Amino acid sequence: MPTITRIEITHHQLPLEPPFPAAWDPNPRRKFPATIVRVYDDEGHMGVGSGDAMYGFHDYVHLFVGHNPLDLERHNAILANIEFHAARPWPLDIALWDLAGQILHQPVWRMVGAHSNRIRAYASSGIHRSLRGMVEVAQQVMERGFPALKIRFGRPRLGDDLAVVSAIRDAVGEGLELMVDCNQGWRMPWDTLQPWDLKQAVSVAQQLQAEKVYWMEEPLHRGDYRGYSELRKSVDIPIAGGEMTREPYEFRELLERDCLDVFQPDCALSMGIGGLRTLAVRVVEAGKVFTPHTWGNGIQLLANLHLTAGTVGAPFIEFPYDPPEWSTARRDYPLRNTLEPDAQGWITLSEAPGLGLELDEARLESTTSKQATFA
Ligand SMILES: [Mg+2]
Repeated sequence: MPTITRIEITHHQLPLEPPFPAAWDPNPRRKFPATIVRVYDDEGHMGVGSGDAMYGFHDYVHLFVGHNPLDLERHNAILANIEFHAARPWPLDIALWDLAGQILHQPVWRMVGAHSNRIRAYASSGIHRSLRGMVEVAQQVMERGFPALKIRFGRPRLGDDLAVVSAIRDAVGEGLELMVDCNQGWRMPWDTLQPWDLKQAVSVAQQLQAEKVYWMEEPLHRGDYRGYSELRKSVDIPIAGGEMTREPYEFRELLERDCLDVFQPDCALSMGIGGLRTLAVRVVEAGKVFTPHTWGNGIQLLANLHLTAGTVGAPFIEFPYDPPEWSTARRDYPLRNTLEPDAQGWITLSEAPGLGLELDEARLESTTSKQATFA
């Protein structure tokens, strides 16, 4: 029986020059942090995960060391307890699945169900550019073969956000599906702005529907179940959400109250691969779409690709992409190879065990840091 011997957590910061002016941060980001979690067994295997910073997690390491790494449901239940008492510990769940894959010589997409090893990516942009700049992004994304592009709202004037949708639609016609992230579900730590109310959300939804937007993401606060349910009755555009919702009972409410068409929990931030593989099935059984948020580094993206392709599949999955400021080289800097879709936007997962990733140890060494912050 293999036994977990050690869990190692390291922080890294990649300097960003030019900086990344993330749409959701008033300060251009000059560093891209990554926290790498490695879990080792006594037979020489190692699993890797990434996601939240895992500050304070050392207090809980003893709950895993000495246990069989293949007891994945047990570990997921312990992590759910830790999640309640402390911060999001899900990078370890990802690392344990990667480790189990090494032990069993199986890729994670097979271990979670082997539904498929392929999934199509949509380009998820992250910058508020000028009207012309946004149109250029859309054209580049289409030329690169992506079937869809997600843009971000949140400019000071809503009219400017809506003008971007119209300008892109005018330029690309129906050659590209468009999604809009309204980012009303949660706030960054410094932001005290109130989320939209139902009336505002309905008004924006009607305008997006007129532009044939594929889905409207997070138009209301994450806990406004009544608002979501009313919104869905009032408009025809699919509503997406749940990217940082934490608890299984919250997703149950969202399902029972028919709040969403598209569920977006990210296994690096909520419930881990172990928890989301069952939620994904429930979501699809209810006639909804499961397609995670993946914004983070390539390990986080890869984990969600395995989870989604292997369980239920999706029309497409988020692929953070807004070059040059948000390139695949920056996003995937902990890895030796960047993740790239083919000329039609498909990503194919290999038969390599676990997540099939290879860390760039030299780059991780040179970016080692005491903290996982953006400055
Ligand atoms: Mg989002």
